Amino acid sequence: SESGNTYYRVVLIGEHGVGKSTLASIFAGVPDTLDSDLLGVEENTYERTLMVDGESATLILLDMWENKGQDNMIQDHCMQVGDAYLIVYSITDRASFEKASELRIQLRRARQTEDIPIILVGNKSDLVRCREVSISEGRACAVVFDCKFIETSAAVQHNVKELFEGIVRQVRLRRDSK
Ligand code: GDP
Ligand code: MG
Repeated sequence: SESGNTYYRVVLIGEHGVGKSTLASIFAGVPDTLDSDLLGVEENTYERTLMVDGESATLILLDMWENKGQDNMIQDHCMQVGDAYLIVYSITDRASFEKASELRIQLRRARQTEDIPIILVGNKSDLVRCREVSISEGRACAVVFDCKFIETSAAVQHNVKELFEGIVRQVRLRRDSK
């Protein structure tokens, strides 16, 4: 494979309140908020270089799915620009799980000919007594949608590091098989 650093643009998508921004802020450590002239909205972009399996990779994480107003335009943009996607739902909110399936279908439609790496993320795993979606349902959904699956807790920072390392590995697998 090529030498030097590689950049992957990773997009967070999912229902409001599932924990996308909390995951992004853990990833970033310090938020780096930019104003996007292009879309006329506040674009939240975070960049970090990770060492994964002895090789560095820079992830550019976009948390801009939910900007108010020109939703369709921004969401269409999000569907086009990702090298990889994190489709997030909350394990305490079945509607957000159903929404995740819709988003998977929407993404497949938007990027028909491409084999895009996706991780289905069941967040809020710390809220065990409020669970509405079981681990096996999450796993089964990921099998149907041909993507990876992980449960995380942004609140107690469980599996968050693994999530971002996982997406780097997924992009590399596809890159290396080309
Ligand atoms: P977003 O709308 O998807 O960006 O969701 P946010 O990141 O704004 O989170 C929505 C709410 O859920 C906030 O009150 C967070 O503190 C809370 N939250 C996010 N992740 C977790 C988690 O893993 N566990 C718990 N208990 N709360 C969480
Ligand atoms: Mg948010």
